[in-house]
Amino acid sequence: MVADEDLWRYFAPDYVTARQRFLDASEKVNVEPTTLTLSVRGPSEENLSIDVVYLGPEKPNRLIIHTSGVHGVEGFPGSAVQVRLLERWAAGELKVPDDTGLIIAHAINPYGFAWLRRVNENNADLNRNFLPPGEEYVGEPEKYHELDDLLNPRTYNKPFDFFRIKSAFVILKMGFNVAKQTIAEGQYERPKALQFGGSELYEGPRKWVGYLEKILPSVDRVVWIDFHTGLGPFGVDSLLISGDDSEEELSRLKSHYGDTVQPNDPDAGVAYRIRGGMMNGVSSRWPEIDWTMITQEFGTVKPLQVIKSLRAENRMTHWSAIEERKKANSKERKHLVEVFSPSSDKWRSMIMFRGQELVDQAIDDLGKLSPEV
Ligand SMILES: [Zn+2]
Repeated sequence: MVADEDLWRYFAPDYVTARQRFLDASEKVNVEPTTLTLSVRGPSEENLSIDVVYLGPEKPNRLIIHTSGVHGVEGFPGSAVQVRLLERWAAGELKVPDDTGLIIAHAINPYGFAWLRRVNENNADLNRNFLPPGEEYVGEPEKYHELDDLLNPRTYNKPFDFFRIKSAFVILKMGFNVAKQTIAEGQYERPKALQFGGSELYEGPRKWVGYLEKILPSVDRVVWIDFHTGLGPFGVDSLLISGDDSEEELSRLKSHYGDTVQPNDPDAGVAYRIRGGMMNGVSSRWPEIDWTMITQEFGTVKPLQVIKSLRAENRMTHWSAIEERKKANSKERKHLVEVFSPSSDKWRSMIMFRGQELVDQAIDDLGKLSPEV
């Protein structure tokens, strides 16, 4: 357990500090992290990188993957959980079987983390950017155009916006679940709009897939946890299952991980179906591996508040005259951080506890899936 007075050591004030703490923690486990550096820079001209620690044998049969920060600002709590994982490893409190490896990948979207956005340098949601090989970066949800004006105003500040009233009307007309699905699915037609999935597999994702290419050839089974925030009740995590979400598999996962396991079905729970998700995109490249893919989503504020904050931040980014570097200090970006990483000790403690517990459960699950050889 992490005491409240120690939380500040895990929840960093900015990307540079978070990264440094991750590197310091990896020194304690005597591992040289692999640094996948991007060609773009941060607001202080700092390098931006995905840093990956691998613990385990050279050619693992089984693998646990823990990723965070695919949504930029969600990297603040994600990094906190990962630094703690490394500390526990160093203290001998986190162990895996001899044939098992553990990958901890810090900041899949370091640009968004550093610039305080949820998207990357191309305005793309990277969890919509991993389309399976052969699938074209085109298309949008059927009703996206009906929401476009509401979600993506093409001016900066207007004194009266009426977003709440207008969205209430849309939700009434369209139905909450249809609206949720339409907003969240991902679109490949409007580069300045919300939920843009990109026009190609971008640099960070390409390098991350390239890293995995080196380690996956010997692997039979993977349990992958991708850490997220912004969906569900305050501080509580939902476990959204990608890949095999058959009744049989869901009931197996529920019996192991608990009742918060749910499929990515907009009518079944807090979730929604998406295109271009990272875990599906990666697993589709290695279909011979047995994948268990869990999106761990911690709730923060209500859905409409999340969308409102994303909309305001995106609007400021594309339609204000604010100078690029100053955008990182704007009220819209600060609000976005608060929405995805609330500065509440209660919330942070809940994240730290369940963030660790799920990894323990995953290690246990992987052990059960394939008996010791
Ligand atoms: Zn997320």
